[in-house]
Amino acid sequence: MMRLDLHCHSTASDGGLSPEMVATRAFERGCQLLALTDHDTLAGMAAADKTARALGLPFVSGVEVSVTWRKKTVHIVGLDFSPEDQTLGELLAHIRMGRVARAELMAQTLAKRLPLAAREIFDGAMRFCAQPEMISRTHFARFLIEAGFCKNMQRVFKHYLAEGKTGYVAHEWSRLDDAVAAIVGAGGVAVVAHPGRYKMGKMQMNELLTAFIDAGGRGIEVISGSHGELDVRHFSKIAREKNLLVSAGSDFHALGEGGRDLGINADFADDLTPIWSVLSQQPRPLPPVIAH
Ligand code: AMP
Ligand code: MN
Ligand code: MN
Ligand code: MN
Repeated sequence: MMRLDLHCHSTASDGGLSPEMVATRAFERGCQLLALTDHDTLAGMAAADKTARALGLPFVSGVEVSVTWRKKTVHIVGLDFSPEDQTLGELLAHIRMGRVARAELMAQTLAKRLPLAAREIFDGAMRFCAQPEMISRTHFARFLIEAGFCKNMQRVFKHYLAEGKTGYVAHEWSRLDDAVAAIVGAGGVAVVAHPGRYKMGKMQMNELLTAFIDAGGRGIEVISGSHGELDVRHFSKIAREKNLLVSAGSDFHALGEGGRDLGINADFADDLTPIWSVLSQQPRPLPPVIAH
């Protein structure tokens, strides 16, 4: 059994720990392999890589790309690509450009419901964000909690930010085939992130996976901080049927916000092929347990 993390976030996107702290914490929590997969940016990667390297923790490049497929938001994790690749860099830069305009609209719609001006909401959310172009719903959520409108992350999404709520603004991210092609073109592997979170029927999920595989995608997150036991079993079966490589990640964001902490046990069924079989770095062996 391996303990690793191939899906997590830092302050470079909507996480709460610096890239250095993510790598250090992943190491301390027993991870044998790490990828930092911030949303639509590679800004945290060099720092996380450097820290991981110094600790002897194998590290591969990562990103979580926002995609719109049939009007639904889908997240595609890219692993082990060349961070210098121009096409991938441009695709990510284009996605980021859309975030600020979307955040303006979010602030305007939230202002209709809250006793605050749109500007106050926008500026308030921005205060939680290291880079304006990385502004996300998570930063709005942190501001709304701080301002006392909601008690915790779960509630703020449930009441304000989830699809269909006041603060939700529909947005066109990148195309599925473009995102997958950019990751693969950069020498990486594309993985469908947390499939258990998408509100799709069996048939639509099948169509998504077919489109993903046709575009060159090869992996699926089976073990995820967003998945329960049933999801793990369900998506193991799908991985088998579709011949997909299986991945595992916590989707860690920050401490004390109710999500999963870094590091996850990747105990897949024996007949599944783990994603790291095609990665340039392998999980480091753990030091032997000394019996007393
Ligand atoms: P965005 O990319 O701006 O749409 O923000 C999406 C992010 O919001 C996700 O990556 C999660 O970090 C966070 N998020 C979405 N739904 C929830 C939820 N129900 N509870 C907590 N965080 C959520
Ligand atoms: Mn996030
Ligand atoms: Mn995601
Ligand atoms: Mn994520």
